[in-house]
Amino acid sequence: MSRRISILGATGSVGGATLDLVSRAAPGSFKFVALTANSNVAALAQLAKAHRPEIAVIADATLASDLADALAGSGIETAAGPNALIEAAARPVDYTMAAIVGSAGLRPAAAALQSGSILALANKECLVCAGDYFMDLAKTRGARILPVDSEHNAIFQAIYPGHEKFIRRIILTASGGPFRDWSIEKMANVSREDALAHPVWDMGDKISIDSATLMNKGLEVIEACRLFGLPSEQVDIVVHRQSVIHGLVEYIDGSVLAQMGSPDMRIPIASTLAWPDRMDTPAEPLDLAALSQLDFEQPDQTRFPALKLAREALLAGEGATSCLNAANEVAVGAFLAEKIGFLDIPDLVSDCLDVMDKQAMLPKRFSGIDDALEVDQLARGIVSDRMTSISA
Ligand code: NAD
Ligand code: MG
Repeated sequence: MSRRISILGATGSVGGATLDLVSRAAPGSFKFVALTANSNVAALAQLAKAHRPEIAVIADATLASDLADALAGSGIETAAGPNALIEAAARPVDYTMAAIVGSAGLRPAAAALQSGSILALANKECLVCAGDYFMDLAKTRGARILPVDSEHNAIFQAIYPGHEKFIRRIILTASGGPFRDWSIEKMANVSREDALAHPVWDMGDKISIDSATLMNKGLEVIEACRLFGLPSEQVDIVVHRQSVIHGLVEYIDGSVLAQMGSPDMRIPIASTLAWPDRMDTPAEPLDLAALSQLDFEQPDQTRFPALKLAREALLAGEGATSCLNAANEVAVGAFLAEKIGFLDIPDLVSDCLDVMDKQAMLPKRFSGIDDALEVDQLARGIVSDRMTSISA
């Protein structure tokens, strides 16, 4: 029987890897319900023609007629705008890949979970901004959140069901990003291209910059705490250059279970697509004999202050983690637009957290997704104002 699936963020890096796997599966194994994208009409229309979903949705409402024209006569329904995206995400399916980048993905991912779909969650910002809401919603709806982020997926795989209570700590590995060996002085002048050149993973622009500042690892610590219900002290980070161990679980008896594999996102994605079974992937098999060594080192919080900011925000609560995420999204966008320098990114995030904390605008816990998005909007405004005053 074919499984009904939707991909939110189908034109992105994770969306594309998911489509690649589905295209290789036996014909009829999957049936697409919704494919969505932000603004690239041509790419979305091409994917829709190839994969024949029931509906294709473009988030940018001004592109409604462009998408309708591009898919005219195809028999595929089209829609546009944020509400159409939420409605399409809520259509009943067996599996939803949440692969939108940033807090823009919160409402669509929540709508999918609300409808009872398995939520394969790449869009880590959902847990960073509103983790309690998502975890509670999954529980009350009896729905499953399956982590796609490679570290969290690794840890999920290494937790023997029922053994959650025996975990001493979990360890997220980090490649260290393109600047792992650079001095702070050298990092002050990096270009957009330097920062986008990740040594291991080929990913979307935003997460590539987050990997260069190590904010990505900070966001992942928050994601892990909320997903696995662990405090910050039980979630460690280790820099591991070869990126073949993705995550580890240490149990109280001293056993450490690790998940290994080539650095190819199709492996964690496949584990969610086939869950609770397994499926073939074209990922390069791991050649252990060819790996001459495995390195592990402590991350450097002085050169990469985003790590400390994320841990502090985690301790402060959901208001702070939502603010951290929104401020970072705006700062990364400005760096990608070549409006600010690389080291301005953590500075702007830190300033924004300070301003909102002083004005008591960071609640410990949100009562729903609206609260999270309100803090998100306020933080975006503060960082944008700060950037205007820097450049004035
Ligand atoms: P990407 O930039 O390649 O793709 C993002 C997708 O989201 C695109 O389809 C885009 O059209 C859509 N999108 C962007 N802004 C939107 C908006 N405002 N409204 C609706 N749709 C919007 O990003 P990616 O690298 O695929 O990452 C997606 C998510 O997965 C991120 O949260 C990222 O942190 C996470 N993730 C990615 C990787 C990876 O290897 N790329 C690994 C782990 C986790
Ligand atoms: Mg990751």
